[in-house]
Amino acid sequence: MSFKSLGLSEPLLKAVSKKGYETPSPIQVKAIPSILEGKDILASAQTGTGKTAGFTLPLLHLLSKKPIQKHRPIRALILTPTRELAAQVHANVKEYSEFLNIRSTVIFGGVNQKPQVARLRQGIDVLVATPGRLIDLENQGELSLKRIEILVLDEADRMLDMGFLRDIERIMKLMPDRRQNLMFSATFSKDIKKLAYSILNKPVQVEATPENTAVEVIQQKVYRVAKGKKTGLIIKLISEGNWKQVLVFTRTKHGANKLCKKMISAGITAAAIHGNKSQGARTKALAGFKSNSVRVLVATDIAARGLDIPLLPHVINFELPNVSEDYVHRIGRTGRAGASGEAISLVSADETTYLKGIEKLIDMKIEVEIIEGFEPDPNASTVPIKPGQNRNRQSRGRHSGQRNSGNSKNSNRNRSRRRNDNRG
Ligand code: ADP
Ligand code: MG
Repeated sequence: MSFKSLGLSEPLLKAVSKKGYETPSPIQVKAIPSILEGKDILASAQTGTGKTAGFTLPLLHLLSKKPIQKHRPIRALILTPTRELAAQVHANVKEYSEFLNIRSTVIFGGVNQKPQVARLRQGIDVLVATPGRLIDLENQGELSLKRIEILVLDEADRMLDMGFLRDIERIMKLMPDRRQNLMFSATFSKDIKKLAYSILNKPVQVEATPENTAVEVIQQKVYRVAKGKKTGLIIKLISEGNWKQVLVFTRTKHGANKLCKKMISAGITAAAIHGNKSQGARTKALAGFKSNSVRVLVATDIAARGLDIPLLPHVINFELPNVSEDYVHRIGRTGRAGASGEAISLVSADETTYLKGIEKLIDMKIEVEIIEGFEPDPNASTVPIKPGQNRNRQSRGRHSGQRNSGNSKNSNRNRSRRRNDNRG
């Protein structure tokens, strides 16, 4: 199977080969032809399977087939849950449209809106946006969605998790009814199906890999360890294994900062990425990690979601997530695009219930090991840390900065978001 046989135009094929892609991934093979036919789709495939090109390539193909209008109304909208993801998707849109007469830009909160507005005023064909800033700028009359032909919801499941449902519903009302809708999600929950039902018109359903097959090619291991010895163990693993690019997950922002500091004291270059970090700090941390000047990136689930960090050899769960599906997302960061990867979880007694939940979801037992000097505490309670408690503490902070509006007209929306925001 080749990109050419999928029916994409020459300028797109040129961009694809410049990217170095030789063959389309399974989700691309399945999604691209249906999108080119103008159909709505509901696509699910794990993180790292090439969904971005799966919708961007056919979207650009369709837009470029029609003559450019004088005032260049926005014709395609790609909604993403986080700023990082928006920036990444936009980078892809730019690469793939290099040989086309298509203009694109990206807007998200947490940064000055002026440069974004200036770009919008020049006339844009494709807009990548997070919901909050999009609604703000629409309210201010800086953009119109009345001429949208194609809508993409990327990481739709995460958008729901992050409490964007009402924003999405609001945005739908700003667009013409007649349009093509593409919805992408890593998982297919009941809520996703409900949203799909309300937005999509006779969608073609495409699923590349059943939810759990990719998990099997990732080497997974559990280290049983006393809670207080986790930091020592993680430092030992990283230094003795001489691991160069490690993504570490913690459950809380505070935990991420604390661990990051300890790593730095131990001589391991590390950076944290989470919702309380400024946009600049997050971008810098990610760039350092990608260029190998930062060995360890410590992240919370929401901050890490959708980040495109290819070929990650090691993922460590410093703490297990209390939502089993998040485990699958986390370890999906390793072994991307065919490379092999290792996912390690440090599990203390109070996380036993979470471990069982995860094993049930992935339908396999994860190999357990104990390292001398870092044994589990035989007297520790196996009662789980109540996610509820955790949640309350977390939810008080502002969320990963999808937006920064202290704006009173948005305060209702923010309040409802905060209720849903428990991680990140
Ligand atoms: P997803 O959205 O499914 O998580 P991405 O679109 O971020 O995945 O793609 C994951 C990685 O795979 C990216 O680094 C991307 O450049 C790469 N990729 C996408 N399509 C292909 C392809 N056909 N061949 C090789 N690499 C690809
Ligand atoms: Mg994606």
